Amino acid sequence: MTLEELWQQKSDRELEVAARKITEYTEEAEQVIRAEIRKRGMPEPPTFIRNAIRDAHGLTPVANQETEDYIREQIRAIHQGRCPRCSGHGPVDVHTSHWVWSLVFFTYWGSNSHICCRKCGRVKQIKACLFSFVLGWWGFPWGLLKTPIQIIQNLIGLFGGPSDSKPSENLYLIVYKQLK
Ligand SMILES: [Zn+2]
Repeated sequence: MTLEELWQQKSDRELEVAARKITEYTEEAEQVIRAEIRKRGMPEPPTFIRNAIRDAHGLTPVANQETEDYIREQIRAIHQGRCPRCSGHGPVDVHTSHWVWSLVFFTYWGSNSHICCRKCGRVKQIKACLFSFVLGWWGFPWGLLKTPIQIIQNLIGLFGGPSDSKPSENLYLIVYKQLK
C-alpha cells in the first residue's frame, strides 16, 4: 500500500489529529497528509501550524498564501541543497554551538547558529566544546556553573540535533525572518 492509499483510508477525525501534529511527520508523509486534507476540503493545517510558530515567536504574518508558499519552497531548497560552508551534500539545517569564556570575575557566554550540513555543525560544536573546556572555568562563580552547561549543550547537539527528514523549526524561523 502506498502512503497515499494509506491516508485515503483514514477517517476525517484521524486526519484532523494528524494535522494537529503535522510537524512530527516526515516531509514526504506531510505532503501526502496535506494533499488528502485539501482534497476533502478540510481546514488547511499549514497555516495553522505556521501561525502557531509565528505566534510563539511574536512574528507578524506574511501578506498572502503565495508568499507563505514561496518561503516554504525556499526553506525546502535550502534544506535539500548543498552546504554553504563545505559545498557537501545536505540536508542543511540550523546547528547551534555554545561557548563560554571567563576572566576571574567576568564570564561571557552565548550560542551561535550555523546554517550548514551536519558534519560542519559537528565541527563547530567540537571546537566550541574545546574552547569552553579550556577557557570557560576561570571565572567565579559563573565560569564554574556555565562551563558544564555549555559543554553538555554542545554534546546534545553533537549526538542529537535537527532531524534529517525535514527542515527544523529553527530553519523555518531564520529563513522566514529574512525573506518576509
Ligand atoms: Zn558542510
